[in-house]
Amino acid sequence: MSYNVAVDGPAGAGKSTVVRAAAGRMGLVYVDTGAMYRALTLFLLREKVDLTDFDAVDQASSRADITIRYENGEQVVYLNGENVNAYLRTEEVSNTTSVVSAQPRVREKIVDLQKKLAAQCDCIMEGRDIGTCVLPEADVKIYLTASSLVRAKRRFVELTAKGVVCDLKRIQEDIEERDYRDMHREISPLVRAEDAILLDTSDMSIEQVIEAVIALCGRK
Ligand code: C5P
Repeated sequence: MSYNVAVDGPAGAGKSTVVRAAAGRMGLVYVDTGAMYRALTLFLLREKVDLTDFDAVDQASSRADITIRYENGEQVVYLNGENVNAYLRTEEVSNTTSVVSAQPRVREKIVDLQKKLAAQCDCIMEGRDIGTCVLPEADVKIYLTASSLVRAKRRFVELTAKGVVCDLKRIQEDIEERDYRDMHREISPLVRAEDAILLDTSDMSIEQVIEAVIALCGRK
């Protein structure tokens, strides 16, 4: 039986940074599940599929082969054989993925991939529905969150450092919109599992959050 940690929480709560670092220190495989939904969204955008048409999305999705590999400790997402990591974090993909991920057949396809991955290795998997739906039997469950303003400020700093001109208020609005869609969709909405430990990172440094996650996993 593999050892699985489930980490869920809204966009911008610092999950990716924290979970990647904690996984490295604990010797666990880091699984970023959002990247899988992003890869499928990228495919649908490239194919110019009407994202509100469930049947069209379903049909097109059957032509998207998504494979995860680990290269030099990094998760690499292959879309029909192409490494698409560099295209997954554009604003367009970020803002559209929550529309695609709300569709039942999309979730079925991606959740299946995630369950298979978790069964094969000791991992720490981060997403929105890991503790509730993908790995309900996970050894440890953590729900990471922070206020939308704190999350928007973090994103603003990140984008500004990359030279992207952006507006804090707009970023906060986008984050709140994504939260709303993720928390109110019919299937597997973002919700804290009853047995998940809540970690509010609003007033914590990244290092403090990493240490807290490692302590909760009881591993060094
Ligand atoms: O975590 P990340 O921001 O990369 O996720 C992008 C989007 O993918 C989320 O806004 C959400 O709509 C979707 N997602 C999901 N379930 C997951 C992970 C991500 O629905 N387990």
